[in-house]
Amino acid sequence: MTPPEIFAIREGPPDGPGWRIRVIPNKYPAVDLPDLKTPHEIVIETPDHNADIPDYTAEHLRDLLLVFRDRLREMCSKKDVKYVQLFRNKGARAGASIFHPHTQILALPFVPRRIKSELEFIREEGLDFERDGGTRTVAECGNFIAFAPYFSRFPYEIWVAPRVKRPDFSKTGEGELLHLALLLKKSVTALKHILGEIPYNLILHTLKDRDFHWHFEILPRYEGLAGFEVATGVYMNSKSPERAASDLRAAIKEEFDERRDSQTSV
Ligand SMILES: [Zn+2]
Repeated sequence: MTPPEIFAIREGPPDGPGWRIRVIPNKYPAVDLPDLKTPHEIVIETPDHNADIPDYTAEHLRDLLLVFRDRLREMCSKKDVKYVQLFRNKGARAGASIFHPHTQILALPFVPRRIKSELEFIREEGLDFERDGGTRTVAECGNFIAFAPYFSRFPYEIWVAPRVKRPDFSKTGEGELLHLALLLKKSVTALKHILGEIPYNLILHTLKDRDFHWHFEILPRYEGLAGFEVATGVYMNSKSPERAASDLRAAIKEEFDERRDSQTSV
């Protein structure tokens, strides 16, 4: 049995058929926050059991981003909530325990150390596309850019961010989300073009701190973590981000530009 839905984009009354995207509480929430009835939510992305981001239309993905934004807004507004993590596990190695396409949103009463150190890093260095001269750029659309960071932990790791620093994803304008959707669709499609049906994580880092710069990270997980990575937190990556970006650009050209030439829209 699916628990009663919190939100849905649908035809017809709640909890029946006709939905396109729906949000339900996780039956086994990982946290307990007195101020928040559902601190751990699941966004069921599509009724189609086998679909993934490359299969979604850009419009469907835009609607999904709109749901992400609005749920984050709502959860962040609660006083006990210090941080909200949105994450998507695709494939068993990336941690998926149910296989229907879904994203989880989890509110926390603290800011995790990883996020604090990212904030420090961004404060000092900024995101690296600002100074890479384009060699690590994967694609650009509207106000957003996809790039392979010079500190990539995984081969073909991609980050998607607003070009100009903005801390809080939940403030993104509705009119911009189609561009962001298109960029995410292109990025994941390119990844699959190169690597096939690999497991991957899609995560969002966003923070209400004016020094932060929100971003999605797309993390291919076809190589497991080895002892060295677990021991040190230092990752060995066999693929240079410049090479990865160049491969990904070529894949996007093949998947999108050439398809468009043959009259297929994206
Ligand atoms: Zn991050």
